[in-house]
Amino acid sequence: MSNDFRDDAIVLHVKNWQTADKYAVCFTREHGKIRFIAYGGRYPKNVAGRLLQPFARLSVEVNAGQRTDKLKTCELLSLPLALDFKQMAYAAVATELTAVFTEDHQPQPEVYQLLTETLLLLKERNPRIVILAFALKLLDLTGFAPQVDACVVCGREFPEEDVWFSPLQGGVVCNACHNATGEEKFSLGTGKLLANLKKLDFQNPEPFSVKGGELMELENLLYKFILFQTDKPLNSINFLAQMGM
Ligand SMILES: [Zn+2]
Repeated sequence: MSNDFRDDAIVLHVKNWQTADKYAVCFTREHGKIRFIAYGGRYPKNVAGRLLQPFARLSVEVNAGQRTDKLKTCELLSLPLALDFKQMAYAAVATELTAVFTEDHQPQPEVYQLLTETLLLLKERNPRIVILAFALKLLDLTGFAPQVDACVVCGREFPEEDVWFSPLQGGVVCNACHNATGEEKFSLGTGKLLANLKKLDFQNPEPFSVKGGELMELENLLYKFILFQTDKPLNSINFLAQMGM
């Protein structure tokens, strides 16, 4: 038994497959993350193969087979985003995080919406901040968010003060429970930045001003936290680090 479905999709990842085919991972509006093979996708005249590019928004028709899903047709939903190099490097973080923190065929329309808005906002605003806000929102939507409102050890809510962050324990540690191994400073300002980014309205973003030190601190903590969650370094985040971005 097999069944076909059609859905709007954002391409997360594409690679060559066998001699003539392409393999793609997409996040769809109604069907969550899907992966399929586009047979013949590497032939120069193959339309689907040409359209299957990272970050593309496509309408795809997929044949859900027993072992592998196959792409039947696809067409562009919107013109390619024409991202510059830096925007592309940050967009790759968004698509890789989406691929890592979602499950196949688990519908999460709010993740699709967030990713769509993020790829558009990347062109308008500082991509570094947009992606940090995206990561916080994605972790929230997928149930992986770090605990930042109360100490992960004793559960006490914080007075307004600088505390600590433990990537290993998945959140913030109060000064009484702080024991230094692997814990990093989590300043009051960083905590406020995190809260502001998490509630940033992507459809109608207010102007934001961010202090460099707090941005670096939050980025560092969050990417370490993500590393603990995923258990393997993400290519896109390594790439940003290598490029000094
Ligand atoms: Zn504590």
